[in-house]
Amino acid sequence: MSSPYESLLKSVREIGQLESVESLLDWDLETHMPPNGLKARAEQLSIMARLVHDRRTSPHLGELLGTLNGDAADPVQATNIRETRRTYDRAVKVPVELVGKIASVSTHAKAAWARARKDSDFTQFAPHLSELLELKREVADRIGHDGERYDALLSEFEPGAQTAQVAEVFAELRGPLSKFVTQLNQSSTRPDPSILCRRFPAAAQEKLARTLAAAIGFDFKSGRLDVSTHPFCSGSTPHDVRLTTRYQEDFFPAAIFGTLHEAGHGVYEQGLDAEHMFTPMGSAISLGIHESQSRLWENMVGRSRPFWEHFYPECKAAFAESFGDVSLDQFVGAINTVQPSLIRVEADEVTYNLHIILRFELEREMIAGRLDVADIPEAWNTKTKELLGVSPPDDANGCLQDIHWSMGTFGYFPTYALGNLYAAQFHAAAHRAIPDLTQRIAAGDFRTLHEWLRTNIYRNGQRYRAGELVELVTGQPLSIEPFMAYLREKFSPFYGL
Ligand code: ZN
Repeated sequence: MSSPYESLLKSVREIGQLESVESLLDWDLETHMPPNGLKARAEQLSIMARLVHDRRTSPHLGELLGTLNGDAADPVQATNIRETRRTYDRAVKVPVELVGKIASVSTHAKAAWARARKDSDFTQFAPHLSELLELKREVADRIGHDGERYDALLSEFEPGAQTAQVAEVFAELRGPLSKFVTQLNQSSTRPDPSILCRRFPAAAQEKLARTLAAAIGFDFKSGRLDVSTHPFCSGSTPHDVRLTTRYQEDFFPAAIFGTLHEAGHGVYEQGLDAEHMFTPMGSAISLGIHESQSRLWENMVGRSRPFWEHFYPECKAAFAESFGDVSLDQFVGAINTVQPSLIRVEADEVTYNLHIILRFELEREMIAGRLDVADIPEAWNTKTKELLGVSPPDDANGCLQDIHWSMGTFGYFPTYALGNLYAAQFHAAAHRAIPDLTQRIAAGDFRTLHEWLRTNIYRNGQRYRAGELVELVTGQPLSIEPFMAYLREKFSPFYGL
């Protein structure tokens, strides 16, 4: 006879295995599947989703959870029980009919959104958005909340995060960040990013992208790098992590920093404890913490001068025609150009969080029912002007630019900005723990930082909530200070401040 905990673990592992099959099918769809495979693949994905949902809500799992005490002395057991209970509770509270309804409404909403964006006409998308908001409010009410519906949606992506706390931190960040962007923008000294729009053959880009990913610790014996329209990282186990990127021959940063970003997610997945594979102890904490790892490697390390002190000679040799006359300083300046713009996915690391604050503030009001759908375009444009100092000429460049709302995804956006803030806190803590880290990076030693992240973050699985982990590792709760200090120190020299 196995103990209730062992039975629980067996069920949890099976759910994790099914989900990993699902993610491989999805990866294949995005990378290698021939076009005619789509219809059958949709059916395969749909049956997988149903199997996972049935397992997640099975009465057997409910019974096991009923007999188990979440206060188990062993932290591994306690974590696995607590997190399984959390996902079980969420799954059983939302009836399968409601899940199905949202899936079908969002299929139509996505098509309407694509048309509306093409015509730059929000009114075509508005009725679909209203319907999705109604359904997501119902989801939030069923999951339960203390009056702030957004909490129930946010916690799907960032367990334990409170809307009020996030709002407070963003409100604190908004002023100083906007002011810093204005300062940079008004300076007469600025880097020249045009050198990044010369010619960069895809084959040479791929070679460099692979070198950089491997250097920061991505193990190609336990992972792959392929091409897809939208870059992503999907990890089915620590021994099999799939990254994708896309090569743009007339724009250097897309594939290089895109790969570093996804490889940052990838080293987190590969660094999870394989002993706890398919269980919460062997899984990533939250989207915010995941994003902190991608941003740390992409921006804080990958766009730093020391990083390129090591790699620029090799990069310059690989792109001799385009970079032959470009010095290291010109190059590092170019990859750190700050330019307030309308489109989030093209935003630099300084203005990025302002795009997120805008979306978070609007989403929160929409879910609470305090902002009418019809008023979204105007609210969007007003906030864009206020935060970034630029005005969208139309809805395609404004409130219709992101796919998220058409998928019924609310509460996801803030995790990007939380990731940036967490990343700055981890980055500062790593520098305190490894005093010669800058010199190590300039000398091509990324192993020391990788090991530190592995020990302090990856290996903990879901043992702590994001907020707890940040406080434990950095000695400070979620804070804007390390992020602002990092930005000022890094960007001021490029702009003669
Ligand atoms: Zn990411």
